[in-house]
Amino acid sequence: MIEANIDPWTGEVRPFPKMAPADIEAALAASAAAFPAWSALSLDERAAHLRRIAATLRTRREDLALTMTAEMGKLRREALAEIEKSASACEYYADNAARYLQEQAIGTEAARSYVRYEPIGCVLAIMPWNFPVWQVFRFLAPGLMAGNVALLKHATNVPACADAIAEVLAEAGLPAGVFGVLHINNQQAAGVIGDPRVQAVTLTGSERAGRSVAATAGSHLKKCVLELGGSDPFIVLDDADLEKTVPVAVASRFGNAGQTCIAAKRFIVTPGIADRFVRAFCEAAGQLQVGDPNDGATTLAPMARADLRDELHRQVMASVAQGARVLLGGQPGQGDTSYPATILDAVAPGMLAWDEELFGPVASILRVADEAEAVRVANATRFGLGASVWTTDAHRGERLARRIQAGACFVNSLVKSDVRLPFGGTKASGFGRELAEHGIHEFTNIKTVYVA
Ligand code: NAP
Repeated sequence: MIEANIDPWTGEVRPFPKMAPADIEAALAASAAAFPAWSALSLDERAAHLRRIAATLRTRREDLALTMTAEMGKLRREALAEIEKSASACEYYADNAARYLQEQAIGTEAARSYVRYEPIGCVLAIMPWNFPVWQVFRFLAPGLMAGNVALLKHATNVPACADAIAEVLAEAGLPAGVFGVLHINNQQAAGVIGDPRVQAVTLTGSERAGRSVAATAGSHLKKCVLELGGSDPFIVLDDADLEKTVPVAVASRFGNAGQTCIAAKRFIVTPGIADRFVRAFCEAAGQLQVGDPNDGATTLAPMARADLRDELHRQVMASVAQGARVLLGGQPGQGDTSYPATILDAVAPGMLAWDEELFGPVASILRVADEAEAVRVANATRFGLGASVWTTDAHRGERLARRIQAGACFVNSLVKSDVRLPFGGTKASGFGRELAEHGIHEFTNIKTVYVA
């Protein structure tokens, strides 16, 4: 089976073959063969591997960035930053996993009772194209330190990124089979989830994929972690400092061409600041320049695929037909996959821009009467991934943060993933956590030992 990757900026088509069944079987067998020796290594030995992987990522950064940009259109500087973040994550887990994984004594009437975190085997990672390197390392760095081995099924439009990651790991000396790449379709992925050599699955992707993967995993009684979509609120209260708020609003919504799960998508504004915020936001977003993602002057990347751009435009047009007003942008580029920075005002319940995730450079302005309505509107969504609150009164911000239904709420700060903090969602944004203590424990056997 041949699939093709299309360069979003140049339109160059690169055919990429899917794997034959014998190759899938070989990858599964290699993974199962690698697990006993890998899990038997000491934490120090596994940490040494992760440090070499970090160093190799940095050595290969230029090539890797070119591959990312060619496959999904990411700005070169965003690609380089993503590679550095991935390398740092490897070092962080090399330094800190022992602390997260140490046995925990629990006092009972036994002579000794405690919890151990034991590796479980092979975890299948189904990953998206939007952060084609970081998403993989966000799962992989803690997972390898926990003693698991991994198979990666990457998104169909980033096959060379998947292979480049495998090359980095091999060059860093990771033993064969500890990490493998499967170029497979979604039906074949269901077969791999069911294979007895695979113990669990982690998916980062859309709600639709989440429902399908969770159903398959459930039918095989296998654990899954789901990191799905979001429609994050960005609440601007009357007393917000616009000089700090607006640049973050622009970075959050338009970075990575708006194709970020935790991007601010719904800008909820109270009356005392709404017009001033909207004016400054439009002015700043209007400066963004679409262009060649390898050109340092470009500040807004093209979207990753033409079909994603078309779907976004359909959502924009439907919302406008339902009463939203276009303040900026709203017309797709010609001849490439770009979409201009777009701001929709007067977004209200029942519009697509309210109900659905807009996975591209389109911001929705939701005007509310007061703080209480801001919280109600923030929570009036199927999703619950991230949220941010902007106010010069940090206590007020924190009080709001506690009332918002999301996996993370940041006050006066960009919502971002941080290796030291757990990351994940509630409601239709998924379940389970990645990163930090909670994340590293997801794919371990949390084992009780009781010695009377
Ligand atoms: P997607 O279409 O769901 O694809 C994600 C991955 O899932 C790809 O590898 C895809 O493979 C695979 N997949 C899709 N349907 C599947 C199925 N039925 N069975 C098994 N695998 C399946 O999502 P996307 O368009 O790449 O990514 C955008 C979405 O991901 C957005 O909703 C975004 O918010 C979300 N996201 C969430 C996070 C988070 O941490 N919460 C991070 C990034 C992105 P193919 O490419 O081969 O179809």
